[in-house]
Amino acid sequence: MKSFSKSFTQQESLPERAIDAATAVMRTGRLHRYNTLPNELSETDHLEIEFAKYMGMPYCLACSSGGYALHIAMRAAGINKGDKVLCNAFTLAPVPGAIHNSGATPILVDVGSDYKIDFDDLELKAKTSGARFFMLSHMRGHIADMDRVVQLCKQYDLFLIEDCAHTMGASWKGKKSGTFGDIACFSAQTYKHINSGEGGFLISPHDEIMARAIMYSGSYMLFDRHQAAPNKETFENIRYETPNYSGRMDNLRAAILRPQVQALDEQCERWNIRYKLLEKVLSQSVHISLPERSVDEEFVASSIQFSLLGFSSQKIKQCVKDCLDRGVVIKWFGASEPQDYTSRYDSWRYIEQMPALPKTERILSTLLDMRIPLTFSEGDCELIAEIIVDVVEACLLKEESAL
Ligand SMILES: *Cc1c(COP(=O)(O)O)cnc(C)c1O
Repeated sequence: MKSFSKSFTQQESLPERAIDAATAVMRTGRLHRYNTLPNELSETDHLEIEFAKYMGMPYCLACSSGGYALHIAMRAAGINKGDKVLCNAFTLAPVPGAIHNSGATPILVDVGSDYKIDFDDLELKAKTSGARFFMLSHMRGHIADMDRVVQLCKQYDLFLIEDCAHTMGASWKGKKSGTFGDIACFSAQTYKHINSGEGGFLISPHDEIMARAIMYSGSYMLFDRHQAAPNKETFENIRYETPNYSGRMDNLRAAILRPQVQALDEQCERWNIRYKLLEKVLSQSVHISLPERSVDEEFVASSIQFSLLGFSSQKIKQCVKDCLDRGVVIKWFGASEPQDYTSRYDSWRYIEQMPALPKTERILSTLLDMRIPLTFSEGDCELIAEIIVDVVEACLLKEESAL
């Protein structure tokens, strides 16, 4: 019986250029972003300039984590206590957490069978909930029809925040994910597309929103040192009105991220090569349904999702276990108990008035998820997919009672 032995949580080492840059910063001792020599730009300044340029956006703020970026995005958007924020129910815990942190209430929206936001439910809740904000999480890199998203936001006057934790480097119809909304946030946490352990970015085309975000991040009265930022005049009142929620990026992490931003597109291609191999082998089983991906969606597949339609919870659990026994680590989004990184929406019990989401519940009940670390070779991916196919086929043959 085939089995697999590599770790699903082993990252590639950082590029040598990143290691050299980190050493150089440590030699200076100037790790704080504002600790610069006269006329010197810090590593953090350079990182912001370079990420803004990569995104084709005027402004960028680097900060301490993706979840932190989401929180100050809400604050900079002017969200107040009691405001309602539309948000897909299929996302990870930091997203509703950031909404809660800003004093607002998440209004969870159904997910469709393509794992993207369900437009009917979105429109219904945009009409009836009174929400003025929409936090769209491009969960696991699945990008909804952004033309439709933008049109709905216009129609219902929704302020759009994109959570791009899984779409850094991805595009919709050639336009980068994160450039459709009023604000977009990214993560540089180890399991995302660039790795500084912890880290995040916030981008926005709006002057005042960006100025507020910079003040929130803990820029003191050094805001005019920011390069990928609106001009000084924008801060005239904002600097008095905005509290300091200290969550800056530091030069050590910025130094290791800069070479990774340069290499991002190349890494994205490597993920997609692996995804296509997995997809090809998995699709040999009629019991495994993979989402059909729109040609408009230039996704980055740092993970893969598929559904075992018609499988009972018991059978799914058995498949996950049998895969694990053969070294293949798969997660199930339908588990009723939150585990590791994944939790189903109904475990976020701090959310008052949890809506009934029968569609999401049904879709999550057969939805499986697997990471694709770049330490896996193309051959590894084929082997993994073969094991999954074997397990699923074998599981179907077993009697329910025998499980
Ligand atoms: C990781 C993640 C975040 C938050 O990023 P951190 O940097 O870990 O705070 C937000 N949204 C999604 C979907 C994520 O996976």
